[in-house]
Amino acid sequence: MSEEKSLNFIEEIIEADIAAGKHKTITTRFPPEPNGYLHIGHAKSICLNFGLAKKYGGTTNLRFDDTNPVTEDTEYVDSIKEDVRWLGFEWAHEFYASDYFEQLFQFAVQLIEKGLAYVDDSTSEEIASQKGTPTQPGVRNKYADRSIEENKNLFLEMRAGKYADGAKVLRVKIDMSSPNMLLRDPIIYRIKHANHHRTGDAWCVYPMYDFAHGQSDSIEKITHSICTLEFVPHRPLYDWCIEQLGTFPSKQYEFARLNMTYTVMSKRKLLQLVNENHVQGWDDPRMSTISGMRRRGYPAASIREFCERIGVAKRENLIDVGLLEFCVREELNKKALRRMVVFDPIKIVITNYTESEEWLDSENNPEDPNGGTRKIPFSKEIFIEAEDFMENPPKKYFRLAPQQMVRLKSAYIIQCNEVIKNEDGSIKEIHCTYIPESKSGSDTSGIHVKGTLHWVSRAHAIKAEVRLYDRLFQVENVAEAEGDFKDHINPDSLQIITGALAEPALANDSKDHSFQFLRKGYFVIDKDSSDDKLVFNRTVTLKDTWAKEVKKSNG
Ligand code: ATP
Ligand code: MG
Repeated sequence: MSEEKSLNFIEEIIEADIAAGKHKTITTRFPPEPNGYLHIGHAKSICLNFGLAKKYGGTTNLRFDDTNPVTEDTEYVDSIKEDVRWLGFEWAHEFYASDYFEQLFQFAVQLIEKGLAYVDDSTSEEIASQKGTPTQPGVRNKYADRSIEENKNLFLEMRAGKYADGAKVLRVKIDMSSPNMLLRDPIIYRIKHANHHRTGDAWCVYPMYDFAHGQSDSIEKITHSICTLEFVPHRPLYDWCIEQLGTFPSKQYEFARLNMTYTVMSKRKLLQLVNENHVQGWDDPRMSTISGMRRRGYPAASIREFCERIGVAKRENLIDVGLLEFCVREELNKKALRRMVVFDPIKIVITNYTESEEWLDSENNPEDPNGGTRKIPFSKEIFIEAEDFMENPPKKYFRLAPQQMVRLKSAYIIQCNEVIKNEDGSIKEIHCTYIPESKSGSDTSGIHVKGTLHWVSRAHAIKAEVRLYDRLFQVENVAEAEGDFKDHINPDSLQIITGALAEPALANDSKDHSFQFLRKGYFVIDKDSSDDKLVFNRTVTLKDTWAKEVKKSNG
């Protein structure tokens, strides 16, 4: 972060709090509900919460907000921890809202004892109909008049399992005519006979989000509880509970959630994509999940940089996914090893090449002075990309064509002399001659050519499968597009190339690196790879091809 950079509004609040002596340091938390894998929106929240604590010398807790037994699972807990660590953050404590179930229950008893909570036997329909509307006050029913004694007994019986799901709820007595509907005697406990992923069958009453969240913050002495804008109307209830219970005065602050073009970002929708097999799993490289982006080859640093660049907004907006891809390219350009892979091979025979083979030096990364070189084999028969040859080229075609010369990257200049055809008229192979004095790095040929092609030696090439990804959705603003979001899935979001040929260096150093396949984009090895079959994912193209298309169609 550069020093002149102005503070975001949360940093301003924190600095004012510290200056006023309210807090010496700050404590934040990242509070995921373990009901799905984390997505790039969560990454924003993680970078913000951990980033602020780091900046102001404080700490951040990882708190699993696991108060809803039905949708939660340990698989999700594990994936969340892996994702936060991979993003580069370490939490001070790992907590679970479910660890506080006893304490939260006692808080609820305290509210009953203060005459501020009552057990209501109404159905959820009755409760809803008595709530009124934003312009009409609600009405309190007869259960609100129960005695403290009766409420306490009933609440203990609820806990003991005496009642069925939905038979009773615990509500707090606030204000049935408040313009804020959430203050009209909100429910803070419900009965749910369900197995919880951590507490098993110990509980059959569970706290509602609003009650559990604020009190969990308080228990952990969270100073700044940062959440997204939809929680603005919940803040008065958050403050009310803390005030009535006299617990640590945590404060809630809201910022705009991240929305991104061509993407969905809700765990519910992502789960649908997985369950209905539109993608191959939570970590499908087309998913907006952190695990999907990791598998696709996005460096953690590029995701952090993206979150830094978009800043902290107070109003909802839609961020161009191109900005994320820009950050990915910027990072990969610095560190990806350059390699050559031919996707659609066409054979070249170099008729005047008489050696059996030679190993040429080629830079690993021209952007990195310490990147070193690798050896690439050159021999009489090589492959180039079929699209890099044209029999009848237009003017200014600088790739290979009859009588035309091109440079083979890190090797020699070759000239096309003859095109050998199969019986059906298709090209069998292309006969070229090479210019021995044109060797890369010691070129004394005096010949200049405009085109440089990537290539692989036939005898040394290794087979690879290459997976090319496009946007998963065809519309910019998926959330606001008409109809079901799945109507907008891009049917061509995955293209698999099975017969690619790669230079042999890729067999040895694939696991720990990112690559730039020359002229093809940035790539990373996929977990489906084996010793017999290399599989690569394209992380991102070399340039923003979509931006180009927009420009073209605009004129
Ligand atoms: P989703 O709607 O995708 O299921 P959620 O908000 O229900 O997300 P939680 O597990 O409850 O998911 O979120 C954990 C934290 O991440 C919360 O503080 C939440 O506000 C934050 N968060 C979730 N989505 C975004 C987003 N798109 N942008 C910024 N923060 C987000
Ligand atoms: Mg949630």
